Amino acid sequence: MNVLVINCGSSSLKYQLIDMENESVLAKGLAERIGIEGSVVKHQTTGKDKVTIEKPMKDHKDALEIVLNSIAHPEYGAVKDMKEISAVGHRVVHGGEKFTTSVVITDEVKKGIEDCVELAPLHNPANLIGINACQEILPNVPMVAVFDTAFHQTMPKSSYLYGLPYELYEKYGIRRYGFHGTSHKYVSQRAAQMLNKNIEDLKIVTCHLGNGASIAAVENGKCVDTSMGFTPLEGLIMGTRCGDIDPAIVPFLMEKEGLDADALNTLMNKKSGVLGMTGISSDFRDIEDAADNGDEKAITALDAYCKRVKKYIGSYMAEMGGLDVVLFTAGIGENSVAIREQVCKGLEGIGIKIDTEKNKVRGEERIISTEDSKVKVLIVPTNEELMIARETAELVK
Ligand code: ADP
Repeated sequence: MNVLVINCGSSSLKYQLIDMENESVLAKGLAERIGIEGSVVKHQTTGKDKVTIEKPMKDHKDALEIVLNSIAHPEYGAVKDMKEISAVGHRVVHGGEKFTTSVVITDEVKKGIEDCVELAPLHNPANLIGINACQEILPNVPMVAVFDTAFHQTMPKSSYLYGLPYELYEKYGIRRYGFHGTSHKYVSQRAAQMLNKNIEDLKIVTCHLGNGASIAAVENGKCVDTSMGFTPLEGLIMGTRCGDIDPAIVPFLMEKEGLDADALNTLMNKKSGVLGMTGISSDFRDIEDAADNGDEKAITALDAYCKRVKKYIGSYMAEMGGLDVVLFTAGIGENSVAIREQVCKGLEGIGIKIDTEKNKVRGEERIISTEDSKVKVLIVPTNEELMIARETAELVK
């Protein structure tokens, strides 16, 4: 069975075609600048040369047509016919409280995704556009929605409620939802496999450190807490997002700087994080380089970043009453030797000891703790597309 995985943004569409027989990627690519000048599809079938198709695409349906033609192209395609696509899995950012698992897409499900637009105004509309475009072109192919928030729906109320008036939760759904759920689920399951353990017996802290970053506490295979909240702004310091701050800073800045809600949202989401702290870049490679060259702000930003990760690991360990595994994933988690080392440094007293030699690796699945470390420390490259494909295949079987 071949599953097409689609991840739609407002002007982009990422895709992978996965053969579920052996979970191999048959083809993957990206449509960019949809609806604006310079639309392009970059496609690659595994084992063949990459192709770039520059063609006007007024909407996601146009883009998808080019994507599907590329997938079934006689020269650079991966399959002979579009009919070889048995199902489509769509990444959907927000499922609110409605969707606690992945679901086969029906009109009612689309309505449910629509109902969550208020919670993810930038993402859910784009996801819906992708679903509709796909349904138009592939009307008889079953489709599944896989939600970024679903894995976190097992959190107890004590983890997801804020210290705000209860009516606001009832009225607006103000609570912690959490994001990157597909990744946290995939890497926690993979960690159990790597250690030859049953996930039901493990207390895991998953550190997804990418452009956006979040940490989850996973006990017996279920999420019990996570650092992102009502929106993906809460928690860790990120590339451009501030993460946890005193909420009183918001009205203070509105008054002092004369900012409105939009401007403040932009400040906290796009101009903060290590970019704002250093004025250098949101990319951790640049921050690490600057720190190596003695830039004070870069050194402090990295210290603050790592300290925040440490604090979450410690608090989730306390929350779960113990810890068996800490794992690192996503761009920074998989690739930054220095950040993994700095996060773990000083945690020996709580049973976390990394082997600095084993840690010297990028983007590879590996156990990096010492033999005598009570808590196992792992690098687990994430694979959200594969997780989406698995859930899709499972549901349409
Ligand atoms: P996204 O959230 O966009 O999926 P990724 O998980 O791909 O992000 O992470 C991207 C980030 O990973 C980059 O911005 C960069 O900061 C970081 N990164 C990638 N490679 C390295 C590296 N070798 N060292 C440090 N940071 C890295």
